[in-house]
Amino acid sequence: MPEITRCRICSNADLYKFLDLGSTPLANSFLKSKETRGEKSYPLNVLFCPECGLVQLGYAVPPEVLFRDYIYFSSTTDVMRLHFAKLAEEVLERFSKPDALVVEVASNDGVLLRNMLGKGVRILGVEPATNIAEVANKSGVETLNDFFDSDTAAKIASRRGKAAVILANNVFAHIFDLHDFVKGLDCLLEPDGVIVIEVPYLVDMFEKKEFDTIYHEHLAYFSIKPLVRLFDAHGMEIFEVKRVPVHGGSIRIYVQRNGAKNRMTGAVKKLLAIEERMGLHARPAYDKFANDVERLRTDLTGLLKKLKSEGKRIAGYGAPAKGNTLLNYFKIGSDLLDYTVDKSQYKVGLFTPGMRLPIYAESRIIEDKPDYVLILAWNFSERIVEQEREYLDGGGHFIVPVPSPRIIGRGDTV
Ligand code: ZN
Repeated sequence: MPEITRCRICSNADLYKFLDLGSTPLANSFLKSKETRGEKSYPLNVLFCPECGLVQLGYAVPPEVLFRDYIYFSSTTDVMRLHFAKLAEEVLERFSKPDALVVEVASNDGVLLRNMLGKGVRILGVEPATNIAEVANKSGVETLNDFFDSDTAAKIASRRGKAAVILANNVFAHIFDLHDFVKGLDCLLEPDGVIVIEVPYLVDMFEKKEFDTIYHEHLAYFSIKPLVRLFDAHGMEIFEVKRVPVHGGSIRIYVQRNGAKNRMTGAVKKLLAIEERMGLHARPAYDKFANDVERLRTDLTGLLKKLKSEGKRIAGYGAPAKGNTLLNYFKIGSDLLDYTVDKSQYKVGLFTPGMRLPIYAESRIIEDKPDYVLILAWNFSERIVEQEREYLDGGGHFIVPVPSPRIIGRGDTV
């Protein structure tokens, strides 16, 4: 049953639904035409587990529907390329040894692993999206086209031996069976091996009101508390954690078997204290978040309608998955935005799911000069404003939607 009735970490059945974003199409199911027929939508609501602290979706779309054919290529932006190059360098320096096996789960197009080619380690990517795994293999990053679970892990371990490092970036939130996934990590890891995981952080999501990062692919929204509990159930510990500024604010956690060689830092305790202070381990913070989302809806749609009534032309910038949560939940359609633009060659020419805005290339903004541009890919606001200086200098404006709508004009910075 895709309906979630028990917490996926602690099995508690008393889950608290605090946010209901209605029924929406899948955020990455871009459309080839404006046709309305046949588009499926699924419930999108969010539950809090008072027992272990896990925030999770109340309805899980099967992974085969979500990830077999995928449109998000990690290498599309230079911000992410640089981010992963740095992470690869750190991992090689701190945790690898000659001829070590480094496995990356959900390795996408090889954006991280390609930095380790020719560095004296053996690398293997595991990527469920067939089209993306193909791109990675063609570029020289050996990639197994499969979902990672305890079976896949056992197969890799028996053919290649155990891994000194396992990386899992921006995939943990996608995993339905978290315990089986961690069992797989355990089975594949050398006794003294290290697991490095990056996942969006609930603290950032709450602080910056990033409700639009909620979509069907993200089955969970992690704070440290439930992660500690999850790994503890498998004899593992988080020995270090860093906050990193990608995807609206993420954490990078470093995991090892209990008592293995890396020293525990105080960072886990520090973040637990921040979460506690923000009230993230109890219900009221979740009611407040739901209220914040409603306020944002009133403010943003109010602003767009006002501009429209003054005869302004408005476009969007970016066609990220989160943009579709925002557009669909706030019902921002072609009556308010003429179109959106995107950097990805895979999205240009398509239409956004649900609201059906056409997607053009980024160059359209400077050619067309709309009066206002709503930045849907707000995690790249800085890069976008920098890139579109000419548009701003010519009298254009950007609107950054979160945490509350903000207009950027000539001379302003993000
Ligand atoms: Zn729980």
